[in-house]
Amino acid sequence: MDITANIQEVQQELTPIGVTLVAISKTKPVEDIQEAYNAGQRIFGENMVQELVEKQEKLPQDIQWHLVGHLQTNKVKYIAPFISLIQSVDSLKLLAEINKHAIKHKRVIDCLLQVDIAQEDTKFGLDHPEVIELLESEEFKAMKNVRIRGLMGIATNTEKEKEVKEEFYELKMLFDGIKVSYYRKEDSFDTLSMGMSSDYKLAIEQGGNMVRLGSTIFGKRVIKHFKAK
Ligand SMILES: *Cc1c(COP(=O)(O)O)cnc(C)c1O
Repeated sequence: MDITANIQEVQQELTPIGVTLVAISKTKPVEDIQEAYNAGQRIFGENMVQELVEKQEKLPQDIQWHLVGHLQTNKVKYIAPFISLIQSVDSLKLLAEINKHAIKHKRVIDCLLQVDIAQEDTKFGLDHPEVIELLESEEFKAMKNVRIRGLMGIATNTEKEKEVKEEFYELKMLFDGIKVSYYRKEDSFDTLSMGMSSDYKLAIEQGGNMVRLGSTIFGKRVIKHFKAK
């Protein structure tokens, strides 16, 4: 796998159309991430807190780390000092915890709300009414140290293009609706993270402006679990 060439190729495709690449480096060694970094990539995503923290310590400090996997409330404290974007916020309770730790570190933590758009019910995420309920809640409105930058969704893992397309379309409609209703005067609600290696072209076609690519950049993940140290 030529990581340098992959980064360059994908960036050439995405940069001109204003789509942000998050290189998903889960299970991959720090050497691979360093290679992507040397090729100019600065945004990386991981789905496990422990793995993310260990890599963050070893790699250049100007990397912007995103968390894209389910986050347990008791683990927020480990990433709160440095995380650039938490893409997988799926409850008000989690958001409250993030806000609490953000206050401790005197920072504002950017977040995306993860919306459940897939048919499979294995995926985490809020459904539409839950998203609205969260945004309308007094508890959320009082949080000053989290900033909702947009939405994230994972489409059904299927060959059926039409189904994937509809799921992305649905998420884009929700995104636009929320923007108009809640963030009309704020430019900060600007991120629609949808699309992975198998479906990112469809996601972009449907209006996504952030894609999360793992295998396209780093090759297939053969190691299932990252080994600590
Ligand atoms: C692993 C993962 C990706 C990247 O998957 P690829 O198919 O390797 O591109 C994207 N998003 C999330 C949430 C992931 O967990």
